[in-house]
Amino acid sequence: MTDTTTVPSMSFIYESLPTRVIFGDGTRAKVKEEAQRLGISRPLILHNPVHTVIAEAIAEDIGRHRVVTFGDAQMHTPVQVTEEALALVADAGVDGMIAIGGGSITGLSKAIALRTDLPQIVLPTTYAGSEMTPILGETRDGIKTTLRSPKVLPETVIYDVDLTLDLPKTLSGVSGMNAIAHAVEALYAKDANPIISALAIESIRAFAQSLSAIGSNAHDRTARGKALYGAWLAGVCLGSVGMALHHKLCHTLGGAFNLPHAESHAIVLPHALAYNAPAIPEIMRRLSEALNHPDPAQALYEMTIAIGTPTALSEIGMPEEGIDKAVELALANPYWNPRPLERRGLRDLIGRAYAGMPPNTPTDTAC
Ligand code: NAD
Repeated sequence: MTDTTTVPSMSFIYESLPTRVIFGDGTRAKVKEEAQRLGISRPLILHNPVHTVIAEAIAEDIGRHRVVTFGDAQMHTPVQVTEEALALVADAGVDGMIAIGGGSITGLSKAIALRTDLPQIVLPTTYAGSEMTPILGETRDGIKTTLRSPKVLPETVIYDVDLTLDLPKTLSGVSGMNAIAHAVEALYAKDANPIISALAIESIRAFAQSLSAIGSNAHDRTARGKALYGAWLAGVCLGSVGMALHHKLCHTLGGAFNLPHAESHAIVLPHALAYNAPAIPEIMRRLSEALNHPDPAQALYEMTIAIGTPTALSEIGMPEEGIDKAVELALANPYWNPRPLERRGLRDLIGRAYAGMPPNTPTDTAC
């Protein structure tokens, strides 16, 4: 009998993150109860215009006169916006946050929590996964810095499948690929452990069974439920172990060429996995099973095509001369990766991602 338990090493560190999670359909009805449980009587509701109706309904449920709202969050958490929100928190005597939205809204809530230690209830509406991490990226004068602090980890996360039904198909695709990237890189993290690897495989399997279905019917509730479940697990992966080439490359590309976050992840992931493939044969085998494809990198590339997300960095604003610049930047800041960073391989990876070509998985590593 084959041993299917994969314990990479009997020596590892696993630390669980203490967020309470409520998952299901219509779970936003639990916000008031959770606010009471956390002792929040004057919440600040953070949301984008697209979620005004839901924010209003939650405010009505809690008691309109108790609630303060803020709708000006921006991508990459500019400190200036945080300071505006902090002024509101102080003036209104806010004692907790209710954040409804994607990574940008969650980022603002975390930035406020970092400075005030106020409790947070987060209702995610994308698959970015920030709600499950003690990580915060902030931008000051155009420079993004990232920190880890237990203070920014939300106390409660309420996953309500209903809140994702209107996430447009393309956004669902890029956001889902962003989540898959967290799970894939968790498998070969420097500090990987068998618990997080099991969650990562479960997350990837959930997305493999749902993203294409969402591409065909954005309101497919079963597929939406699976994708949100996958996003939760992927967020845990991101928050628990370190990332590698793929995340660093996306961070570099985003910073150097101002590329959109989730789109860059969707485009680069198949190529980053193909690059690492020779160094991670056992992980490629597990991915092959989860994605039901002999070449996991190709499977991810095909998923982006099936759901209609961009496949080329050129499509999202990267200039052609950026290819060499990105290679230089990637080589200038060495970091952990299962395969050492090599100029030729990186040039091929970024060149293919720029042009939207299929990933170049070495033939002897596909399963
Ligand atoms: P986002 O929050 O910026 O949202 C993108 C767009 O989608 C916005 O216009 C928003 O209004 C819209 N939107 C969100 N949910 C929607 C829905 N259900 N229906 C219709 N429209 C909807 O995008 P994101 O990808 O979720 O987050 C990206 C940000 O999160 C980046 O700044 C990234 O750095 C950060 N992030 C942080 C972490 C972390 O652990 N700190 C993890 C992942 C992402």
